[in-house]
Amino acid sequence: MNVRAQISSVFHLDKCIGCHTCSVACKNQWTDRRGVEYAWWNDVETKPGAGYPVLWEDQEKYRGGWTVEGGRPALRQGGPGATLARLFHNPALPVLKDYYEPFTYRYQDLFDAPAGDDQPTARPISLLDGRPIDIESGPNWDDDLGGSPVYAAQDPGLARLTAAEREQLFEVERLAFFYLPRICNHCLNPACVAACPSGAIYKRGEDGVVLVSQDKCRSWRMCISACPYKKVYYNWSTGKSEKCILCYPRLEVGEAPACFHTCVGRIRYLGVLLYDADRLAAAASRPDAELVEAQREVLLDPADPAVAAEARASGVSEQVLEAARRSPVWRFVKEWGLALPLHAEWRTLPMLFYVPPLLPALAGPAEGDGGFFTSLERARLPLRYLAGLFGAGNTEVVEAAYRKLIAVRLHRRAAQVGDLPPAAAAGALAAAGLTPRQADEIYRLTALASMPERVVIPGLAREEQTEPTADPQRQYAAGFGFLRPPVGR
Ligand code: SF4
Ligand code: SF4
Repeated sequence: MNVRAQISSVFHLDKCIGCHTCSVACKNQWTDRRGVEYAWWNDVETKPGAGYPVLWEDQEKYRGGWTVEGGRPALRQGGPGATLARLFHNPALPVLKDYYEPFTYRYQDLFDAPAGDDQPTARPISLLDGRPIDIESGPNWDDDLGGSPVYAAQDPGLARLTAAEREQLFEVERLAFFYLPRICNHCLNPACVAACPSGAIYKRGEDGVVLVSQDKCRSWRMCISACPYKKVYYNWSTGKSEKCILCYPRLEVGEAPACFHTCVGRIRYLGVLLYDADRLAAAASRPDAELVEAQREVLLDPADPAVAAEARASGVSEQVLEAARRSPVWRFVKEWGLALPLHAEWRTLPMLFYVPPLLPALAGPAEGDGGFFTSLERARLPLRYLAGLFGAGNTEVVEAAYRKLIAVRLHRRAAQVGDLPPAAAAGALAAAGLTPRQADEIYRLTALASMPERVVIPGLAREEQTEPTADPQRQYAAGFGFLRPPVGR
């Protein structure tokens, strides 16, 4: 057993109101600079929809993530030979129009326009070269257009539905959509790290945050095509790749990342997960239908004394262990099985999990479970579509999560309003495999939890991690510090 710690997160999609506050907080903090005008490390998409960059889910086009070859994970875009052949022309890269041409307005026109009969207007101009442009797209261009045949109909996830199911999705009276906020998943098996010919991307040992060394990056951009989530961006001004750093400078001082801190819907949970690094390759090689379960299996119970002992032996600190025991992510992902990885079939073992949205299943008139909410069988979004996003195509894992979510609602309805026969709520809980106590805990963490319960940041003691590799301080009075620099420098 090789126990490592990973800072991971859960986004509860039922609570996302699509306000984009998270995106704007991130943009102002990290990518408000020349060269990354088009980059949104955090973006919020409307599903069904084509997303940002457009059609990022289409791996036939982008060739991101991993496949299985000879029983082992292999980069879909090919190994070192293929990388060498495509070093100077990589056809799997998104181009600027797949993101959007960033723009501003020539506000000065409002002041300088000569007196006339018409109100002056500020023309849109390109942020890249200042020429006037007609705005044709932007981040979240298809916002709230989940039922639009222009945008939503392009969603690659619709390919797995039957013609009848697709038709049903676009019936006016059944239209449904939900929001999908996305950041880098800080994967356990990151394709971006494996694809970089310069070794510029790395996963931090102490917390699993995936970072790009701005010193080592040589602009090959293999990470951009290899990341199936398209969460690495090229800075055209500095010639380096950049990505979400999970606000590690904030984490190191105990502050929540900016997008977590500002989230209006309080949908975001952060905590430590322990995992067994020796099992990663085997887990990432399992068949699609088993991938969600395989990912859960590599996660280790922090309350298990044997796991704790192995973790200590592997260098995991007491603070991190203690935080892992209080992790809300552990509860959602492993204990309750409510939070699921996005597109597990790409085999990067993403460490950002989503509680799937109930709205498409429940927003309808009474009939079905208990007579208050529509049943799963009458979901407005076909389960197969949601399974394509959150279950690697396996409807059973998504269905199991939905049964629990529905059961918790029925249980709370019976407890709080009291107009539901207790037997109906108890039956729903039993069918979902939950106890009343668990249902109350899920309700509490979903609806009532305060910031310290939702975001459990371990004391990272960064100074302890870096001390052995730092240059020795000059010792004026006594002692010699390190006589030789540590190996590896
Ligand atoms: S989401 Fe993409 S960029 Fe982030 S760690 Fe995974 S593969 Fe790398
Ligand atoms: S701030 Fe929170 S609620 Fe608003 S869009 Fe972002 S994730 Fe959703």
